[in-house]
Amino acid sequence: MDTAVKLNVDAPPMEERAFQQISGHRALDFLATLRDRHRVPVECLREPADLDRWLALAGFDLAVGSRPRDMRDAHDLREAINAVTRAVLAGAEPPAAALAALNRWAGEPPLAPQLGRGLDRRWSGARPVHAALAVIAREAVELLAGPERALIRECAAAPDCSRLYVDRSRGRRRRWCQMETCGSRAKMAAYRQRRSS
Ligand SMILES: [Zn+2]
Repeated sequence: MDTAVKLNVDAPPMEERAFQQISGHRALDFLATLRDRHRVPVECLREPADLDRWLALAGFDLAVGSRPRDMRDAHDLREAINAVTRAVLAGAEPPAAALAALNRWAGEPPLAPQLGRGLDRRWSGARPVHAALAVIAREAVELLAGPERALIRECAAAPDCSRLYVDRSRGRRRRWCQMETCGSRAKMAAYRQRRSS
């Protein structure tokens, strides 16, 4: 774990929420596996089984599981994507080290689909988890270099929530990462405030 942040290990894991694929983009969903970024961040990718579970939820049906070294790689790539994306959101230049790390990952060999004898799809590669991370890096590059870059938002519940998402809603009016959680909490708080004033 090479992130310089202090981790809040006492916080409830809430992995289920952190692992939900609700950002509208796999690379942004990946960022949410470190939650509470504006407070004391909580690491939700703590061991290889966590990464395996996230990869499966994100649509990677890999035959081989993560190894301990994949954890460091996953954290490294995730924080590189996060640093570059947050700089983009702030209208700032991406930090050079993060940009270099993202580009290094995007240059790694990605997963390649192979057709089995039973016409089943398999993923080639000696290190499928490494290759899956390369796919995420490539998707992050496509997002940040493409027209949807302008649609990246942070949940309006920030600093309570630090989830980023792509706003593809009609009229670009999506404010929350998820209506049922952050959205309804904010509406409830506004309602209570109206009643008490
Ligand atoms: Zn949110």
